Amino acid sequence: MSTDQLKNVISHAKEYGYIFPSSEIYDGLSATYDYGQNGVELKNNIKKYWWMSMVQMHENIVGIDAAIFMHPTTWKASGHVDAFNDPLIDNKDSKKRYRADVLIEEHIAKIEAKIDKEVAKGIKRFGDDFDKEQFLATNPNVQRNKKKIEEIEVKMKEALTGDDLSKVKDLIEELGIACPVSGSKNWTDVRQFNLMFSTEIGSLAEGSNKIYLRPETAQGIFVNYLNVQKSGRKKIPFGIAQIGKAFRNEIIARQFIFRMREFEQMEMQFFVKPGTQKQWFDYWKETRINWHNALGLGEDNYRFHDHIKLAHYADAATDIEFNFPMGFKELEGIHSRTDFDLKAHEEHSGKKLQYFDPEENKSYVPYVVETSIGLDRMFLAIMASALQEETLADGSSRTVLKIPAPLAPIKVAVFPLTKKDGLPEKAREIINELKFDVECLYEEKDAIGKRYRRQDAAGTPFCITVDHDSLEDNTVTIRDRDTMEQKRVPISELSEIILSKVSMKRLLKN
Ligand code: ATP
Repeated sequence: MSTDQLKNVISHAKEYGYIFPSSEIYDGLSATYDYGQNGVELKNNIKKYWWMSMVQMHENIVGIDAAIFMHPTTWKASGHVDAFNDPLIDNKDSKKRYRADVLIEEHIAKIEAKIDKEVAKGIKRFGDDFDKEQFLATNPNVQRNKKKIEEIEVKMKEALTGDDLSKVKDLIEELGIACPVSGSKNWTDVRQFNLMFSTEIGSLAEGSNKIYLRPETAQGIFVNYLNVQKSGRKKIPFGIAQIGKAFRNEIIARQFIFRMREFEQMEMQFFVKPGTQKQWFDYWKETRINWHNALGLGEDNYRFHDHIKLAHYADAATDIEFNFPMGFKELEGIHSRTDFDLKAHEEHSGKKLQYFDPEENKSYVPYVVETSIGLDRMFLAIMASALQEETLADGSSRTVLKIPAPLAPIKVAVFPLTKKDGLPEKAREIINELKFDVECLYEEKDAIGKRYRRQDAAGTPFCITVDHDSLEDNTVTIRDRDTMEQKRVPISELSEIILSKVSMKRLLKN
């Protein structure tokens, strides 16, 4: 996929009522989007697929819906107040703000590009005899640039992990990095910028009343785990799932709905006996990739990226990356978080968060394996791989949005061939029956061919055409979005034909 594909997805999503820029009449608000009439349906269907596979299909997983506002100490315990930061720098001339680490990384990328250029030259010079590995290991220009990169990376790591952010600025100046907008090197100092949005609760007179909009949904699960365990009489291992909004004041918010300031997460925390976490980590890796593969977006579009450098609280972590139009990027995280979060909440709240294990006849703080997926990123993964331009047998082309049928916003569009002779009434009759099971749409404008194409582009898996014969013999033409195959079938069989393809069961059984 390419960045052009991202542009196509953005304009297609707007044209077909999937996603609009937020408050567009005021020129929008950056990194904030609204889901339109089709977008909300697709989003709800993704949530439903996730929820059914997690909660309904697992006897030992239940859901909750915690508040977005939480006691401020929650975020002290979780580490977000002290450590959920990005280093920021402003250019004084353009007044543009950047992430200091990203500026340095982009500088490194430029040096990497020089190496690639050198390789391209080598291929041209040596043709079939070109040995890339040997070339990379011996070419003096490549060696020099590789050394440069290594030195910068060491310095960057030292500067970013130390307490003194002036070293980060020193490095930016030393590398001669200029603002991409103004071209100037007139930088402010580097400051830590906390990604949490804060607001105030209650009256100002009460003293400290700063609270945060949650940057992740997970903490609502951690602080409730004993409530759920006790009220639900849950035995370990068990899980708690939640879908909800999260907020992060991302400095660089680009790439459409991939990185937003207000987004939705679908998270599940699985509480296990200490020592069994590795086995559950593997179980969830496999279960989650199967969930993705059942959608049929292409197994090659996914890959695991195991974390080699682990956060201090994790003993294993992996990302499921998806081949977005911008390249492979994180779609979901699977983390073995040990007892870090629950222990931190014990410490800060002074309450015991232990589980009494009747089999072991002892109490302990459970370990946690979590799966965390961004709903909006999943939406983008589906839209980007579904949007296709097809060349047909007759040489013409069509735009088709091949959203997996069970997730499609509208499942069936029903068309009367003409606006008279009782055909609209017959079409409405069909909708009135089908609408109890699936989302339907009625359309009578334009020629049938044009109506088909519009539904192809909108992602509707089935179109039904009612003609004059339908009034006589109660049959209709049903057309499949993906194969474009048309079949004459009795109206009485429609429901079965459609449900066999659009029901969630089909995905869940995979
Ligand atoms: P990234 O490195 O891309 O910023 P992250 O590692 O900070 O992501 P997590 O904290 O692990 O992300 O959050 C879990 C999931 O939430 C991610 O896998 C992603 O799908 C989603 N997510 C995180 N930040 C955003 C965002 N700003 N916009 C949309 N989705 C997001």
